[in-house]
Amino acid sequence: MANENMKKILEKIKEYKRIIIFRHFRPDGDAIGSTKGFAEILKATYPEKEIYLQNNDFSKHLAFLGGEDEPIDDALYADALGIALDTGTFERLSNPKYKLCREHIKIDHHIPIESYAEYEWVEELRSSTCEMIAAFYDAFKDELCMTDLAAYYLYTGMVTDSGRFRYRDVSGETLRLAGILLKFNIDTEKLYANLYLREFESFKFESHVHKKMKISENGVASIYISLAMQKEFNLSTEDASAAISHLDSIKGSLIWVAFIECADGSVRVRLRSRFITINSLAEKYRGGGHACAAGATVYSRREANKLIKEADAMLKQFKENNEGWL
Ligand code: AMP
Repeated sequence: MANENMKKILEKIKEYKRIIIFRHFRPDGDAIGSTKGFAEILKATYPEKEIYLQNNDFSKHLAFLGGEDEPIDDALYADALGIALDTGTFERLSNPKYKLCREHIKIDHHIPIESYAEYEWVEELRSSTCEMIAAFYDAFKDELCMTDLAAYYLYTGMVTDSGRFRYRDVSGETLRLAGILLKFNIDTEKLYANLYLREFESFKFESHVHKKMKISENGVASIYISLAMQKEFNLSTEDASAAISHLDSIKGSLIWVAFIECADGSVRVRLRSRFITINSLAEKYRGGGHACAAGATVYSRREANKLIKEADAMLKQFKENNEGWL
C-alpha cells in the first residue's frame, strides 16, 4: 500500500521531464540493482521522459549487471529531478552533482543519520532498497510497468543485501515482493553463478585470511589487509574487501571486522555482527550503516586497534547481559 511519501514521490516523477538517478560510491548489489531497476521501470512507464543513471565509480564484481549512462552535460541537471537511492548521507553519493538538480528525492533503507532531499522515503527495517522499489511498483502497479530486466536488477539487490534472504530484516513482505519479481523472467541459476562463483586464486587468499586473522579476548574476529598483502595476492581493493565474508561463521565471535588499506592512506573498515548492534561503533569512526552491517574509515593501525578494543568491550558487555547467542 502506498504511504504519503510514496505518493509524493510518484507525483514528483510525473511532474519532471528529466530524471537523474544516483547511488552511493563503492556500489553493492543493492545500489546497482535499485538504481538500474528503478530506471528501467521509469523508462518502460514513461518513454517520453529522459532517465539517466549518473554515477562515477563501478564494481568489477558486479560488471555483469552492466554500466552507467555516459556522463551528461552539467546544464542538464538544472531542471532535472534527482533521485538518490540506497545512500544514507550526501557525502556517500558517488556523484555530488546531485546537488545541481532542481529538486531531490531520497529513497533508502539505512538508519537515517542525515536528511539531504526535499522528499524522503526512508524505511530502515526494509532488507534492501530494491525491496522498497519492488514495494513502490506493487503499490502503483496499475500505473507503472515492470519489465524482465527491471525485475532481474531488483531481485539481484534483494538477494545480495539480505544475504540470500538470511538476515533478520527479511520479512514475509520481503518474500512476497521477491515472489512478485520472480513471476518475471529471471534466470536465477545464471544470476547465482555470476554472484557467487569465484576464481581459484581467491580460495588461496581465503586460506591466508584464516591463517592471519585474530580473535580478541571476547570474540571480535578481525583481519588487517595491508597494501603489501594485496600486492602479494594481486588483489584490487574490492577483491581484498571480500575478506569480511571469510570471518562470518565463527561460534562465539559475534562481531567481525576487516580493515583494508587503500592507496590514498585511508583504511576501509567493514563491520559485521550477529545479535549485537554495531552501527553506533561505525558512526564513531566516520561511518554508519545498518545494525549488523556497517562501514567506516580509519587512518592508521593504531586507530584500527582502538576500534577493535571498543568492539571487544561492547561484545564483553553483550555476552554478560544476554543469553542464547552463538
Ligand atoms: P560495506 O561493508 O561497505 O558493505 O557496508 C555495509 C553497510 O554499511 C552498507 O549498507 C553501506 O552502505 C553502509 N556503509 C558503509 N560505509 C559507510 C560509511 N562510511 N558511512 C555510512 N554508511 C556506510
